[in-house]
Amino acid sequence: MKVIVTGGAGFIGSALTRLIIGETDHQVLVLDKLTYAGNLESLSEVASDPRFQFAQIDICDAQSVRNAFDHFQPDAIIHLAAESHVDRSIEGPQTFIQTNIVGTYQLLEAARNYLKQYAKPNAFRFHHVSTDEVYGSLERPGLFSETNSYQPNSPYSASKASSDHLVHAWHHTYGLPTVLTNCSNNYGPHQFPEKLIPLMILNALEGKPLPIYGSGNQIRDWLFVNDHAEALLRVLEQGPPGSTYNIGGHNEKTNLEVVRAICVLLDELIPHRPAGINGYAELITHVADRPGHDQRYAIDASKIHRELGWVPRETFASGLRKTVQWYLDNTSWCKHIQEGSYQRQRLGLTDRAQP
Ligand code: NAD
Repeated sequence: MKVIVTGGAGFIGSALTRLIIGETDHQVLVLDKLTYAGNLESLSEVASDPRFQFAQIDICDAQSVRNAFDHFQPDAIIHLAAESHVDRSIEGPQTFIQTNIVGTYQLLEAARNYLKQYAKPNAFRFHHVSTDEVYGSLERPGLFSETNSYQPNSPYSASKASSDHLVHAWHHTYGLPTVLTNCSNNYGPHQFPEKLIPLMILNALEGKPLPIYGSGNQIRDWLFVNDHAEALLRVLEQGPPGSTYNIGGHNEKTNLEVVRAICVLLDELIPHRPAGINGYAELITHVADRPGHDQRYAIDASKIHRELGWVPRETFASGLRKTVQWYLDNTSWCKHIQEGSYQRQRLGLTDRAQP
């Protein structure tokens, strides 16, 4: 297959691209605007593979998106490009509306027009990657299933919910062969350090406070990013048109539990602590809660297990250990992010492989 991956320089998109190039015979064209969250260093493992191409494109730019389809002639697109950070959506929702809603619309339209000349329209897949946050906040003991109604609460989740509705509509109205996945919180290597787990690891290493919103009792389900990437590939290859799958890790944790688990691992792995502290957990600091913070998300992933045979490989303990170790072993990746110098390194690769 020839697969377009939008947002392939981001956290999940780069894990998926590494998986596709490493484990399949598919070709990949990554389309990515390289916002602050896009980092070509996360694609360095695959950059020289002849089955990999990259183009710096804004998905809201209809002409560039159309050109990419015409040039690459894909058999599928996996759409991950998005503004993805809830806090940023609260501070400035406009780019979320633009990229997550208008950008998805442009891709749907480009795919619809492209399929008019594509030989096997039913074999094509438009795979839209979304979040469990579209379902809103959940009381115990329920789980989000694919039939739950949408009740998004943040500008981020509302923009993702809107894009999901567009995808459903393009399938029902125009017959576009779509598949849609809603996944819980991801963690793992290459995650931009504004998200909870890498932020806590890097702050702890510098002896900085570990800021926890409110009580820290908000519950999330956590999934190791490589497990998510495997699930995405499974749905792309086997999911019937019009289908939706929830993807989760069966790992419900409070934010406080997550941060404490990181501190325990750091205590074990880095015995030389920053001056003045006996254990990393002493750095935990409670700060004012995020406005409208959802209390609980939890996923019922039985459909993807039953229909496609996918289950996560990592437990939370094994995945978190791998994640902490990766950040300890990849200090230059982290340093480039913290200095902003990763942006300068974008140039070489973007010039190399425009479609
Ligand atoms: P990320 O912020 O790490 O990466 C997003 C990527 O999209 C970046 O490379 C960025 O440069 C690119 N991008 C942003 N705007 C663009 C535009 N206008 N045109 C082209 N490229 C653009 O995000 P992530 O955590 O890897 O999430 C990927 C997808 O998965 C998103 O759609 C997100 O909603 C969804 N998701 C994320 C999680 C999670 O826990 N991170 C969970 C469920 C679903």
